[in-house]
Amino acid sequence: MTTVQQVTNATGSDDHRGEIVTTVQQVTNATDALASAHTYAARGAALSKVYGDGDTRVVALHAVDVEFRRGEFTAIMGPSGSGKSTLMHCMAGLDALSSGRAWIGQTEISALDDKGLTRLRRDQVGFIFQAFNLIPTLTALENITLPIDIAGRTPDRAWLDAVVDAVGLRTRLGHRPAELSGGQQQRVACARALASRPAIIFADEPTGNLDSRSGASVLSFLRTSVREMGQTIVMVTHDPTAASYADRVLFLADGRIVDEMTAPTAERVLERMKAFDTAGRDSAAATAAEVS
Ligand code: ADP
Repeated sequence: MTTVQQVTNATGSDDHRGEIVTTVQQVTNATDALASAHTYAARGAALSKVYGDGDTRVVALHAVDVEFRRGEFTAIMGPSGSGKSTLMHCMAGLDALSSGRAWIGQTEISALDDKGLTRLRRDQVGFIFQAFNLIPTLTALENITLPIDIAGRTPDRAWLDAVVDAVGLRTRLGHRPAELSGGQQQRVACARALASRPAIIFADEPTGNLDSRSGASVLSFLRTSVREMGQTIVMVTHDPTAASYADRVLFLADGRIVDEMTAPTAERVLERMKAFDTAGRDSAAATAAEVS
């Protein structure tokens, strides 16, 4: 028996059937949205992004469906120009979609105006960039709490302590960025992203400026924040070793998700990436053959 039938039977009347149908539908929709928001920190449906028009038209994303589960570390890989940055920027509300819908938790970001987007980014999203983007005149601790201070909120001291300890910065909190190594600066940036307990952190080549040892410590920290603190992280990288720290890897090619790998190892990711190189060479050779 359907829910509508049950409600109609219970009320003993068919008079309000239309209203009951609408209400049940609304409740069902709301329940579905909540269940989905509970499972996914962010998701996108039919995400498309087109740059330019006419001769300069580029379709950077082709109706991409993507889901990022809560407490999961996802790496996004793919050849240069495959749409990795565009996907990340559209999901983070840094760039507008041409069409499609995107959500962070329960909030549909594609329906927000500029003010709403700014608030969402401030309250729900953490960012880690290749360039650490620290304020040189502020200490490490002041940099970490800056987004919380700007939002006019009081930091959760116990959480901040946990983040500072996890990232191994306890003895460096009074130092300015210039007095820290690259690895330490990026760990400050990671702590800054985590400090406000965002629904999701987007990291763009976070180890791109680091030597392999510092990179490994930043990646270990990111993985720990996912495993032990339940953080959700999406990381764009071209480095198979960096991707191996993630729980799963999404592979993009020509604006589409073409493959997914769980429990990745650097070797398997490298093998997969080589297949792109071969495919790219084959398609370039085919084009050259057509032209000649
Ligand atoms: P990736 O991060 O994988 O290198 P991008 O997302 O940066 O790829 O780019 C995807 C495609 O969109 C590329 O063809 C790129 O040239 C194009 N593109 C990206 N940003 C712009 C822009 N602002 N204007 C025009 N084309 C762009």
